[in-house]
Amino acid sequence: MTAKRKTENDSTGTKSKYWDPLQEGVKWIEKYSESLENFFLRLPEFISTFIATLAIFTLGATLRGEWVVILVTALKQITGHTTSNKNVTTAEILQTFTTQNMKLSNFGFFFIMAHIVSYAIYFAIGGFLHWYFYINRRHKAQEWKIQPNKWLSPELERHEILVGIVSLFVTGSFSSFLACYIYNGNPSTVYFQFDEYGWLWFFLQFPCVFIYQDYTTYILHRMYHTPFLYKYFHKLHHKYKQPTAFSVTAIHPVEIMHVQLTACLPLFTVPVHWLPFYLVVMYNYYHGIIDHSGINFKSQWWQPWQPDAEFHDQHHEFFHCNFGFNMDLWDKLHGTARKKNLVYTEATFHGEAPRQGTAAANKLLTEERTKTD
Ligand SMILES: [Zn+2]
Ligand SMILES: [Zn+2]
Repeated sequence: MTAKRKTENDSTGTKSKYWDPLQEGVKWIEKYSESLENFFLRLPEFISTFIATLAIFTLGATLRGEWVVILVTALKQITGHTTSNKNVTTAEILQTFTTQNMKLSNFGFFFIMAHIVSYAIYFAIGGFLHWYFYINRRHKAQEWKIQPNKWLSPELERHEILVGIVSLFVTGSFSSFLACYIYNGNPSTVYFQFDEYGWLWFFLQFPCVFIYQDYTTYILHRMYHTPFLYKYFHKLHHKYKQPTAFSVTAIHPVEIMHVQLTACLPLFTVPVHWLPFYLVVMYNYYHGIIDHSGINFKSQWWQPWQPDAEFHDQHHEFFHCNFGFNMDLWDKLHGTARKKNLVYTEATFHGEAPRQGTAAANKLLTEERTKTD
């Protein structure tokens, strides 16, 4: 059995002289695969589902170093070391930034901790998911894979890990800065006492932050699908027509920072309690991994707003449609949801594409074919 897996492993990646994180990780997991498999088989289904959910959640929470910000704010709340931020204005915050009058002691500690954990979990859990599905269950792809007959080439698998490493460095550094900024008591509109702005606002923040983050990400994503921004930034993320869990952070550093800064804007503009804010962020990251996994995950009955993983997978397969993430509402409202009778290629911008069978569609398909060859 081990020998058979080794052959499959060779078919997923050619041997290279340089250090290859994918091959190394696979080799490491291979050593323990039999015992891991037996362990999972003996567990009741709900426990293995729980472990898998927790693993993906942990991956999401640590990927961009957000866990440091959460830890710092949670500790502030628990220990009561919170100077009241009430009535802090955005002008005051801007002044702190422009005059560089901010305290950032212990930055090195936050920076190192955020990166160590981020990369360790990225390779440990990301690598495990990759092995579990893409190597161990490769022969059963019809059962779990959204595009069961198409696979990302080993070169592109390595490419997405390398881009991911660079982007994680940028986003993790920003999270370390944010954690350090809050830890040192610099002005922000984050608050700590649950009822400081009333319980109604506390609970309303869940839908408000969710809608804000999802809609702004939709808008940014559509912006990055206009010809100039697509060519120089977003095209990188679209190299992966069959995305995997590693594709989630394989985004141009400029674009990923743009998205992260927009998502964090409420922390400096409106009173937000850290708990609802970061619970929504974690929810988004969890689904970011699910949506890029290439695995046929279905949304649950309690999340009617959430499209299945297939929705974003199709964005990678067909390029300029299905721009949304955790709500398919935006694509329905703006008419950018994928229409089955249209032919989308990388050259059909703005969610507009010719009908199947028309001369324009045939021309596009020929152009696409010659481009790939
Ligand atoms: Zn895109
Ligand atoms: Zn994507």
